[in-house]
Amino acid sequence: MQVWWGEQLVVFYNDACIAGLAERHPSVLGRHAPELFGERWSTIRDAVERVRADAIEVEVDGLHLVPIFGDHGVDGILCALPEEPEPEDALEAPSDRRAKHDFLSLIGHELRNPLSALSTTMQVFELRGSSPELALMSRSVRHLSRLVDDLLDISRIARGKLVLHRTRIELAAILDRAMEIVTPLVDDRGTKVFVRVARTGIPIDADGERLARTFAAILTNAIEHSDRGAPIVVEAIAEGQKVRVVVKDEGAGIAPDQLAHVFEAFHTDRMTGGLGLGLAISRGIVELHGGTITIRSAGAGTGSECVVELTRAEKADLGTPRIPVATTVRKRVLLVEDNDDTARALKNALEQLGYKVALAHDGPVALNVARTFEPDVVLLDIGLPVMDGWELARRLRERTSELHFVAVTARDQESDKQTSVAAGFAEHLIKPIDLGRLQNLVEGLPMRTRT
Ligand code: CA
Repeated sequence: MQVWWGEQLVVFYNDACIAGLAERHPSVLGRHAPELFGERWSTIRDAVERVRADAIEVEVDGLHLVPIFGDHGVDGILCALPEEPEPEDALEAPSDRRAKHDFLSLIGHELRNPLSALSTTMQVFELRGSSPELALMSRSVRHLSRLVDDLLDISRIARGKLVLHRTRIELAAILDRAMEIVTPLVDDRGTKVFVRVARTGIPIDADGERLARTFAAILTNAIEHSDRGAPIVVEAIAEGQKVRVVVKDEGAGIAPDQLAHVFEAFHTDRMTGGLGLGLAISRGIVELHGGTITIRSAGAGTGSECVVELTRAEKADLGTPRIPVATTVRKRVLLVEDNDDTARALKNALEQLGYKVALAHDGPVALNVARTFEPDVVLLDIGLPVMDGWELARRLRERTSELHFVAVTARDQESDKQTSVAAGFAEHLIKPIDLGRLQNLVEGLPMRTRT
């Protein structure tokens, strides 16, 4: 596709266009659309004026023109060219593919620290009171965090590095969680979601949170492709050892030539935008669970049906979730974090939650502070100067066995989590963290005995 920007229709385009432009690339980049199309422009010109004047989509001469809205009406035009046969991902050299996903992973990690400081600070502001501006900023930060999570997830799936944490869980509980995730969108769009799933009797061995996010992504896709207020039906059909979860909408449907591509990473469409990773990640997660995911649609305008097939577990063996008990005594939290902004944001947040907090930027200082501060809980960054968080925990524990450690880190590999578990950490939290979850965790840990 191309973008024709501004009054002058300055041309920008994406990689997919390069093949079609052949040797004219890159010299036509930044030129004006009429120059690019030469004599053909005479057939296109009127359509362009219609897009601008009426702010509508127009088909002309094999091109699909879509208005791009700015502060002053239509500021540009998106021009979708007829589909060229695209180079398949499979034709990409494995080393290129690997480099691409390593790069995505690197970007994701680098974005986490600044996001973490922002996210924590926003959560503190929200504790103090709400305002429309604050709500907008929080939404944006959450959106950014989700994009970063998606980038990291897709690169992990592509590199075979995504690990599931399976427990036995009822399908209904997973779908409840999925509905919770999409509630803001459902409310915003006035969508009516009908969930017809037995409350019990369909246990599966699954990574509940991941699978819930998968169903949330499928629901999000269905909602975004439906009209406002349109119904969506979620049904579970158990047959023998299998259960099929069907998410059916009456929305825009999918053209037959697009069906094969909807699960590709970075496959976007005009209706939803975004990075186009939701369904690609969904497929990766479902397949890691040994299941399948398919989308059916009779064509554009006929709605679509997404079917996830999973294996049922033998019988339910469901633990009850632990409910944290609030205490009135102020716990003492030692926070060790070398990133200044993250440290300050988290310290503020913890104080807002009512904890007594001491801060250290590296291991030696933390060892000193711990001597007089006598913390109950130590929140540790792992990547620290002088000694890493695990080493610091080991040294602190040499003095007292009554300390509890929680990793708060950008290091999200399974091996990192394992190292934290092996080091006796109560939890390994990935930045940016959810304050509510941290609070529940800290509340659930016992205090040390003081004489
Ligand atoms: Ca660090």
